[in-house]
Amino acid sequence: MTFLQESAMQRHVTIIGGGVIGLTSAHSLVRAGHHVTLIDAHAEVASETSHANGGQLSYRYVAPLADSGVPLQAIKWLLAGSEAPLRFRPQLDLAQWRWALQFLAACHRRQHHQSASQLLSLAQHSQQILAEWREQDGLSGFAWQQTGKLVVHRDQQALNKAIGARIAPDDQQPLDARQCIALEPALISQQASLAGGIFSASDETADCHAFCQALERQLINSGRYTRFASTHVAPLSKENGRIQYLDLIHIDGSRERWKVEEVVLAAGNHSAAMVRALGIRLPIQPLKGYSLTLPLSEGAIAPRISVTDAARKVVYANLGSADSHQLRIAAMVDIGSHERDISHPAIDEGRIAALRRIASTSFPEAGNFADATPWAGLRPSTPKGPPLIGHARHGRKKHDAPDNLWLNTGHGSLGFTLACGSADLITRAISGDDLPSNLKVNFHN
Ligand SMILES: Cc1cc2nc3c(=O)[nH]c(=O)nc-3n(C[C@H](O)[C@H](O)[C@H](O)COP(=O)(O)OP(=O)(O)OC[C@H]3O[C@@H](n4cnc5c(N)ncnc54)[C@H](O)[C@@H]3O)c2cc1C
Repeated sequence: MTFLQESAMQRHVTIIGGGVIGLTSAHSLVRAGHHVTLIDAHAEVASETSHANGGQLSYRYVAPLADSGVPLQAIKWLLAGSEAPLRFRPQLDLAQWRWALQFLAACHRRQHHQSASQLLSLAQHSQQILAEWREQDGLSGFAWQQTGKLVVHRDQQALNKAIGARIAPDDQQPLDARQCIALEPALISQQASLAGGIFSASDETADCHAFCQALERQLINSGRYTRFASTHVAPLSKENGRIQYLDLIHIDGSRERWKVEEVVLAAGNHSAAMVRALGIRLPIQPLKGYSLTLPLSEGAIAPRISVTDAARKVVYANLGSADSHQLRIAAMVDIGSHERDISHPAIDEGRIAALRRIASTSFPEAGNFADATPWAGLRPSTPKGPPLIGHARHGRKKHDAPDNLWLNTGHGSLGFTLACGSADLITRAISGDDLPSNLKVNFHN
């Protein structure tokens, strides 16, 4: 990292969570002159949701899941079996029902527009911050490409509706079927069924796991960063209005009290449980999704640009690098999946078989889909969509939040897209700096 600043207000910040949100926060804080200790339960960074996600930096496709048509659509999808883009399997869990009710309440046009415009500002800020890190710090080695994103539709009516609903129309160009195939020749096998698409030339793709590793390489070189690997942090407690220390449990069972100055909670799906005893209720539920990683051999006819199948809600990203070429395929939202261990979500074989079927029908010449590596992850999701970023004084029990606790969590299905901008916001908040004027919004939805 070449762009290290000296900060007048240098702090020691302890970050809980080594996914893409924790690592981008660390990078941004170190860049701004702070010292960081990052703690994660796993041996390697990005071992949970940031591991094999869809690879989309879809800065112009940030509309939240909660929308006016979704409840009715979800009922129709009940009949679609394992290929359904969205499934709801309620459990006997009060927090889950509370979340589901908040989600339903957010399923109307006004809320959808409000959340979408909040997410769009954060996404565009994220794109700008990632560009700075790539250009000024030489951050590389994570299969980053700006190939643009093409969202294809099979139904003319749905395409017309999507054209009318664009949230960044200057960079979302409508195309007919012929233009889609000219842009992405691998769509030729779908020629007969394509109605057309919408293309955003400046959207990007990258490998989120490799991105986290690249960030950590730079962090280690900075001399301002340490990581406790394979170390579990116990739920937080406070004394005299502050978190004084964290209780750590290392992999060998030994325990340690870690004295803290500032704490950033970037614990993804575990965030709500970490602060419950403090009286802070974070509206985050794990929404399950799946991916396949298909090795691409020479001559494979696979998408080169990012393609989204709008009706099936499947995304395709070509994560090619100097030594390997692979196609990442990601899809599906399971609300209320029961997990024995949320750190290791179970792979539902029915869902994976459906995803193999959909992908191999769409791109039959891309390779042998039986060889694709399956993965399941849980999106740490808020009911309205925007993440929780800022001081932990949240909701009604404002006075209960410890003075030195900061949140950067709840990024749902957009964590990779929003990570760099979110990291910049939390860094500015901790440093006492102004926020960019278009982002002076309350991210504590
Ligand atoms: C199928 C699927 C596809 C997706 N596709 C995309 C996409 O294309 N583009 C996009 O922008 N986003 C995508 N996402 C969403 C994105 O992956 C997530 O939003 C993002 O990874 C969340 O990052 P995180 O750092 O908050 O959580 P995580 O990556 O889960 O990291 C949290 C970390 O905190 C650690 N931790 C938690 N509690 C403790 C504790 N008590 N002690 C120690 N460590 C702890 C965990 O070990 C974990 O490593 C997708 C998600 C899924 C499931």
